[in-house]
Amino acid sequence: MRICIVGAGYVGLVTAACLADFGNKVFCIDKDSEKIRKLKKGNIDFFELGLSEMVLKNTKAGRLEFLSSTSLEKAVRDSNVIFIAVGTPPLPNGDADLSAVYDVAKRIGKFLKKSKTRKFKVVVVRSTVPVGTSDQVAKLIGNGKTAIISNPEFLREGHTVYDFLHPERIVIGSNNKSACNVLSELYRPLNARIIFMGRRSAELTKYASNAFLANKISFINEIACICEGMNANIKEVADGMGYDSRIGHAHLRAGVGYGGSCLPKDVTALIHLANKAGHDSLILKSIDQVNNFQRRRFLGKIIKSLKKNKGKTVCVWGLSFKPQTDDLRDAPSVYIINALVKEGYKVKAYDPMTNGRARQIFSDVEYFDDLYSAVKGSDILVVLTEWNEFREVDLGKIRSLMKHPVVFDGRNIFNHKKIRESGFKYTGIGVQ
Ligand code: NAD
Repeated sequence: MRICIVGAGYVGLVTAACLADFGNKVFCIDKDSEKIRKLKKGNIDFFELGLSEMVLKNTKAGRLEFLSSTSLEKAVRDSNVIFIAVGTPPLPNGDADLSAVYDVAKRIGKFLKKSKTRKFKVVVVRSTVPVGTSDQVAKLIGNGKTAIISNPEFLREGHTVYDFLHPERIVIGSNNKSACNVLSELYRPLNARIIFMGRRSAELTKYASNAFLANKISFINEIACICEGMNANIKEVADGMGYDSRIGHAHLRAGVGYGGSCLPKDVTALIHLANKAGHDSLILKSIDQVNNFQRRRFLGKIIKSLKKNKGKTVCVWGLSFKPQTDDLRDAPSVYIINALVKEGYKVKAYDPMTNGRARQIFSDVEYFDDLYSAVKGSDILVVLTEWNEFREVDLGKIRSLMKHPVVFDGRNIFNHKKIRESGFKYTGIGVQ
């Protein structure tokens, strides 16, 4: 098939590379001309395991082509399936900003009307969008020969290529049989379970899934607070809960809260959607409030400890919102570091993957290429991402390098007994 993908970010680029790898001809378009210029040379501005190799292989084979936005009309003309995979960031009020989705839909609609094409085309809304957005996209495109499908993406950053190739389910929202057949055929190499439903249900399935995952995180963080007051251990509690197959271990790790470009914005967008539906959602608001509280609470403890020790220098290990990615969007590190800098503390940082991107966000932070140099002379060590390399550090060496052996572990990566035996004052989440 011939495919056009609009948006060359995490979702669009992975979809483009994987579909090209199945043998399709794929045009991948982005309005960011610098991004397209780099992609043409094989350079990707974010890290995803296996993506670079797949992009290079398929570009070289001529199956994957990168084009700037000015070529949108040409790519739409030459494609059977058009994916809209542009960003839907949060507006200041927390609702989803749909301007990019609607801009693209308007241009496609205008072109299809002008070209008077008779060919059947499928437009797939891949971005995460509130219920009713695909209906609006259908109105904007307004072409009887074009079917609009909602086909939300469920991949996890850090594992995007793997997740695209091994989906647990594919959701296709449409009541147009021919369009469903086209998409099923496109995904046939995945041999995956496909769930067909209405467009509006598909849109809500995505938000409900992300809100449910965020719910598990906020729930375990709340139980962690109870553990701290009751001298229980959240790791043991979560383990005991997770073996219940109705609950499961996933997303039951207490920590400084969830971040990233999806969970925070999708929870607030769903709160807005609930309001539009005439429902004041108590659970959704609590998920968001608990997550914000978790960051504030952890920061408060750090500052209290610094004041007690008259400390000035904080070393932060881990900046990305989770391991295996260099994405800093809405990461807890952004909130905590900005607050520490504002309070006048000196921040030194180490992240195995994110230092380059972080430099664009925190100008007042000193960056290091290894974790030992970063911790040297610090009054406190704060861990904000659970990178594996932090787990097996030489604790004796860290202790000798620090001014005060104080550790705040926002991801519970250390064994609290072992680290205290090594002479550290240790604060984790939900462990005494
Ligand atoms: P991203 O910010 O990485 O990429 C979006 C891309 O769209 C950018 O490169 C941007 O330049 C481009 N763009 C914006 N407006 C455009 C326009 N008018 N024309 C052409 N290009 C345009 O975003 P992402 O992480 O890939 O997310 C895209 C969508 O998928 C969002 O709705 C997001 O919620 C959803 N989603 C993301 C993930 C994830 O893990 N990142 C997972 C599932 C779903």
